[in-house]
Amino acid sequence: MSRNDDFSRTGGSRVGQVKEVTSLTNPIVKDLRALALKKYRDQQGVFLAEGLKLVIDAMEQDWRIKTLVFAKAGKGNKLIEQVAARTFAKGGLVLEVSEKVISAITRRDNPQMVVGVFEQQYNPLASLRPQGNDVHVALDRVRDPGNLGTIIRTADAVGAKGIILIGDTTDPYSLETVRATMGSIFSIPLYKVTEAEFLNWRKGFSGLLVGTHLKGAVDYRTISYSNQPVVLMMGNEQQGLPDSLAAACDRLARIPQAGRADSLNLAIATGVMLYEIRRDALILDERP
Ligand code: SAM
Repeated sequence: MSRNDDFSRTGGSRVGQVKEVTSLTNPIVKDLRALALKKYRDQQGVFLAEGLKLVIDAMEQDWRIKTLVFAKAGKGNKLIEQVAARTFAKGGLVLEVSEKVISAITRRDNPQMVVGVFEQQYNPLASLRPQGNDVHVALDRVRDPGNLGTIIRTADAVGAKGIILIGDTTDPYSLETVRATMGSIFSIPLYKVTEAEFLNWRKGFSGLLVGTHLKGAVDYRTISYSNQPVVLMMGNEQQGLPDSLAAACDRLARIPQAGRADSLNLAIATGVMLYEIRRDALILDERP
């Protein structure tokens, strides 16, 4: 492809044009760089996802792409051309940029060749009606982007159906969190609510709400999780669950510890709990 070249038709999509941008002062680049800040992500309702595989996965799962950015080195790459053609077909913008520009957008020294700008998606809590053996994770004021990304990835891995973010949380659509999800951000629905909204929703939830608490009296392995929907609630990294949320739980579970550590890391504790809750549902695929 060369500057402002037409894309050939790919899979019936519209023909579009590539805009070439090399200057960091270009206004489009400035807007993309601003997406490192939550304020601008929220204003525009979008976020950045890095890497060709991630962008393809997202588009296959019907996430709406607004802009596709690719580095000059990606010129002639068939997959990138296909993704670019699909971006045009969806009404998006395609930018060919220098490595310097893509580094500045992603704030990385060794950037990926492709970055997608996608629309954020939150689901209304009213639409959440767990059934069967559904598992959801509720996170109280999670602060650390790495923890949140790791939890989203782990929840996806065990087949959990959604993440409920309660209160003032770190942004699931920050660069750091999206990176830590390794693509699972596109596979698991997010709900964002206040504590009061969660407690109100909880009144109509007839499954099992299990909170994890360092003062919990029950060993997490003694609880029966099967044959009912489960919501697993995890506390804030510094303060743990407040009394108001702990009081709303059917059970308060504790993971036994030896040694001198006061507690487990939030994402690790969530992983331990999720694997216990999903113990019977997860079977190793033993195909030869
Ligand atoms: N100082 C906090 C407290 O007193 O709760 C520590 C919070 S801990 C780092 C963050 C969250 O991870 C806790 O709220 C709880 O949900 C979970 N957690 C960590 N270790 C746990 C354990 N041994 N048993 C149950 N939950 C645990």
